[in-house]
Amino acid sequence: MTTSSFEYFAPTTLGEAQTLLSQYGGDAKIVAGGHSLIPTMKIRLAEPKYLIDLGRISELSYIREQEGGIAIGAMTTYYQIESSSTVRSRYLALAEASGEVADMQVRNKGTIGGSLAHADPAADLPAVILALEGQISLASSGGQRTLVADDFLVDTFSTALGDDEIIAEIRIPALPANTGGSYKKFGNKASHFAIVGVSAIVTMSGGTCQRVRIGITGAGPRAVRGRSAEAVLEGKEPTGSNLAQASEQAAQGIDFLGDIHASEEYRAHLTRVFTRRALEEAISRAR
Ligand SMILES: Cc1cc2nc3c(=O)[nH]c(=O)nc-3n(C[C@H](O)[C@H](O)[C@H](O)COP(=O)(O)OP(=O)(O)OC[C@H]3O[C@@H](n4cnc5c(N)ncnc54)[C@H](O)[C@@H]3O)c2cc1C
Repeated sequence: MTTSSFEYFAPTTLGEAQTLLSQYGGDAKIVAGGHSLIPTMKIRLAEPKYLIDLGRISELSYIREQEGGIAIGAMTTYYQIESSSTVRSRYLALAEASGEVADMQVRNKGTIGGSLAHADPAADLPAVILALEGQISLASSGGQRTLVADDFLVDTFSTALGDDEIIAEIRIPALPANTGGSYKKFGNKASHFAIVGVSAIVTMSGGTCQRVRIGITGAGPRAVRGRSAEAVLEGKEPTGSNLAQASEQAAQGIDFLGDIHASEEYRAHLTRVFTRRALEEAISRAR
């Protein structure tokens, strides 16, 4: 199938894109890498009258150090993230998750902003951005606002983005010393989307897990923080029994999806197993 007809704009500045979006609002769609939007348009699930392509806005593509953490422009591709020495040296889990998305073609075009805005429940990056307590900066002609990822992601394919807002930047705060991170996923063999993916970011102090952050994707209708699992492990030594308790807890409170790829029970099982693996790797890297 082909898309329905639309008018195409290719602004070269964020300001121009904001003006276009405020002009056409709900009738317009932003296109970034196009790897989720274009297939959706081809099956006519989306029929925007106006398409605003961010591809020529170079000011939205960067990775830079900022306030002890890093700032990533929304149009930065998965490939740029996975191959960035800044990201690899400071936020290895984010680089690894980017490197596990789909295939080289998708990673060369797909963007961090598109991944977050699309809010696919099986997308990889949301798990890591949640565990890193990332912040999403939204720009509109009315101004800017910043939301933590947990407030930005609302439901399946649903976010807090307003019709006139563009994701401009993703900010990842500084991590304490002795922190290690990991992203482990059980991927769909064809698309590589996460059937379940878990990111753990752990700070060690002596032999104790001082700070634990867990993000889980693929398991339920949206990517979530594994807060009760985090609470089980914080302040404790990572003994086999404490890790088992935390992993068990990670599956609590998730409304597991069941489909042709995995039943609800299997996704619950994968959540426990991959939480344990992500925690173990994060702890060993923190040490
Ligand atoms: C074959 C295939 C396999 C895939 N496998 C995986 C996988 O293993 N893991 C994974 O995580 N993903 C996977 N994906 C999805 C891929 O990661 C997409 O690139 C991503 O979901 C969307 O990014 P994009 O830049 O292509 O966005 P687009 O498709 O251009 O846009 C997606 C949505 O986000 C909106 N949007 C985009 N950018 C912005 C912005 N800056 N501000 C506001 N709204 C915006 C658009 O309006 C649209 O609604 C796969 C896709 C394909 C085609």
